[in-house]
Parts: sequence; structure tokens; C-alpha cells
Amino acid sequence: MSESEELDVGGDETVEEEMQERDDSDDSQQSYKDLPIANPLKIALDSLGWKSPTDIQRKVIPQALQGKDIIGLAETGSGKTGAFAIPVLHFLINNPSRLFGLVLTPTRELAFQINEVFDALGSNIALNVVCIVGGIDMADQAIALAKKPHIIIATPGRLLDHLHNTKGFSLRTIKFLVLDEADRMLSMDFEKEINELLAVLPQDRKTYLFSATMTNKVDKLQKASLKNPVKVEVSTKFQTPKQLVQQYVFMPAKWKDCFLTYIVNEFKGQSIIIFVGTCNNALRTTLILRNLGFQATCLHGKLSQSKRLGALNKFKAGQSAALVATDVASRGLDIPNVDVVINYDLPSHGKDYIHRVGRTARAGKAGRSLSFVTQYDVEAYQHLETMIGAKLPQFPVDEESALMLLERVSESQRMATRELKEQEESLRKKKRKGAGHDDRDAEDGAEGEVPEKRHKKQNKNRR
Ligand code: AMP
Repeated sequence: MSESEELDVGGDETVEEEMQERDDSDDSQQSYKDLPIANPLKIALDSLGWKSPTDIQRKVIPQALQGKDIIGLAETGSGKTGAFAIPVLHFLINNPSRLFGLVLTPTRELAFQINEVFDALGSNIALNVVCIVGGIDMADQAIALAKKPHIIIATPGRLLDHLHNTKGFSLRTIKFLVLDEADRMLSMDFEKEINELLAVLPQDRKTYLFSATMTNKVDKLQKASLKNPVKVEVSTKFQTPKQLVQQYVFMPAKWKDCFLTYIVNEFKGQSIIIFVGTCNNALRTTLILRNLGFQATCLHGKLSQSKRLGALNKFKAGQSAALVATDVASRGLDIPNVDVVINYDLPSHGKDYIHRVGRTARAGKAGRSLSFVTQYDVEAYQHLETMIGAKLPQFPVDEESALMLLERVSESQRMATRELKEQEESLRKKKRKGAGHDDRDAEDGAEGEVPEKRHKKQNKNRR
């Protein structure tokens, strides 16, 4: 698409008129067809398989279409991305222009996910969206920005870098600003960056602010950035989906890996996420499972961005049955079709538990979560039960069968320990040779990688 080209929006729309005829307090729309949104969007929604708006979309879209600023209190998983992307694209289709919308979001993963939603919704209008996040080459991003995309999705720090350093780039034409996961952005100390960005954004823009919680900082931000906003809220109370079976598994700490192996085997053929407490544990558990012949992928904060996305895509594509993840993966990431969530290490916060188990039993599907409890976790587990407000049933483990795996699991543990040591050693050697550099991505990737080829060889005939 050349720079001069605008959106490919097809015929004229009379949506504004259609909108005025509607009663804006009407909360009962059951289908997108009832919403006065531009036709290309309706077609895209249809091909996405989104039949009716989610709660947050039903509450936000009609207000946004009336030109209001919005505060949306909703969590990831509520469909909030659609709630802001649909109105932004609707207005863009009606008034095509470059550098039209800006979405600020706290993490790279969320940015990529939002990018996917915009791409899908803009699939038949030649929409140009660009993601400006850390860990990716600045020069490539500068080239993408020079092409003046319609929508920018960015983490605050990197966007500010471009404002300071990329010649010719400005936010003067932005008509719509979305502050996504505002509470998280502020708790990640992006306040200064956001304020700097707000100072250079046009005053006559529309602003949508989404947040899971209304903290004091979010309140301050909304006062500084929104004009007469409409506040909409969807229930953030934790309600376990009826289809989610939550159980715990009690075991002595020394048999944790053995029980894990038994359970992963029990759920063979299903997609499993195993949550662990640390990056190191993610690596170690992945190695153990691979040594035992399971297809496992790990996802943790020390991996480079490209490796994180690679791991996620592999899991999404079903090439890997088990994803071993730290809480990096529990929030925000859109991982559909997970059958079982295993809390190998109990989460330190109740909220993380909610996000973890929320990866399964989505959209009416069945799902199961299993929390591992050892003699050291009893107190933490009791806290968890209080928070959920329920006593969970125990998952029945045939202990005798589980312990028959002990020898093989111990051998895999030894191999994993050796492999981790070798990896550390080779990393140390590289650093000593002067291979140290500033590229955080490359360095992180080397630290957190699981050498896959060797495992493939070792795994032959094992399973
Ligand atoms: P979000 O809260 O925006 O991260 O969305 C959570 C999940 O819901 C994503 O997988 C979306 O693709 C999906 N989703 C959003 N809106 C709808 C809808 N109206 N119908 C079905 N799925 C949806």
C-alpha cells in the first residue's frame, strides 16, 4: 500500500444517521448486526466468528459511537480489545486518515495480541497497523512509522524513544488514544512516559481508558486524559465457569516431578499449561518432560521476544502438548483451547491463580485445573481456598502407578541438571570470550533456551 493510499472501505456508509435513530440506552443488542457499525467491520466480525458482542463490547460500543470518551473497567478475557478496536476502526472507516489511532499497552505480548485483533477486524479495508515495542530493531520500526500506519500499538517507553529519535515522526494527527490495562501500565512505572506522551497528543482526540481496577493512580490518569467520560463496568468478581473442574493434588515435595509425569501422561493428547514459579524451574521442568519423551515448550520472562512468540505459536498450533510457563504467560495472553492448567508451583497471589485457571474452560468449553500442594504449601493453599470461597476436591492419583515412574523421572532430573549446568558453562565461556553485548534479547535467549535437537534424538523410542 502506497503512502498516499487511504483505506479501502467500499461504498458510502450512512452509519451516523442510523446511529441517531437508535436509543442509546438500549442495552439489549444481541448481535453486531444491531449495532450501527460500518459494514466492512460487520463482515470482518462475521469471518472472525464473533456473533454477538461480549458484555463489555455491548456497553462500550454504543457510547463510543456517540463520540464519548470511555472508562472501561474490564479484565483481559472480557473482549475489551474488540470494545475499543471496533469503534476506533468504525470512525477510521468513516474518516480515513493516517496516524489515526494510538493504543498504549503495558507489555509486548499484549501489543502483539491487540495487533492481531486490529489486523483481523481490518482484514477487508487494507488497514495498516504497526507494533512499536521494545526488543525489536528501532530502525525497522522507524521505517514502518515513516509509512504512516493508520494505527500504532505501542508500549510507552519505546514509543517515546521514537518520538525523541525518529526524524519526522509525530503524534499530532492522532484522533483516538486507547490506554489499555492502565492499572498495569502505572504499576509498571510508565507514569512519566504516559504523561510525556499525553503532553504531545492533540487535545481534541477521543480517549478510551481500560483498566481491571480503579486505583488512585488510574483515577488521576483518567482525570488528566479524559473529557466527560462515560464509565462502564463489567463484573470483575471471580466466578469460576461452571465447566471448570478445579482440584488439588497432594504430594510430598520430593515426588513432585513424578506426580507431574503421571498426570501429564493421564491427560495425553490434551493441551496442558504447567505454571511454575521461576524461569529456572520452567527450563528445568521442560527439560525433564522432554527427556521423558513429552513435547514440551517453555515460556518465561528471560526468553527473547521472538522466542516467546515462537513458543506460544508452537503451542497454539498444537505442535507442543505442554507449555511450561511462568506468570508472564498467565496474564493477557490469548491462548485458546487449553484443556488442563497445572499449578506445579502455587501462585504467590490469589489474582495470579485466577488468571492462570482462566486459561481453560473459556467460552463455554470444558476445562480442568490441578493445583499441586506439598507439605510446604498447606498455608498458601488454604489462603487460596478462602479466596475462591470453596473447598476443592482432591484429584485421585494412583500412587503406586505414579511411583513406578520414579526411576525414569529421577534419571530425567539428573539429565536436566547436567544440561542446565552445560548451558550455564557455555554461556559463561561465551561471556569470557568477550561475546558480552548490549542486546538484551540475544543474551536472554541464550540463557533461557532449551536445546531442542538433542532432545529429539534422546526421545526416540521413549514414549
Ligand atoms: P480480550 O479480552 O480482548 O483479550 O478477548 C478475549 C478473547 O475473547 C479473545 O480470544 C477474543 O478473540 C475473544 N472475543 C472477543 N470478542 C468476542 C466475541 N464477541 N465473540 C467471541 N469471542 C470474542
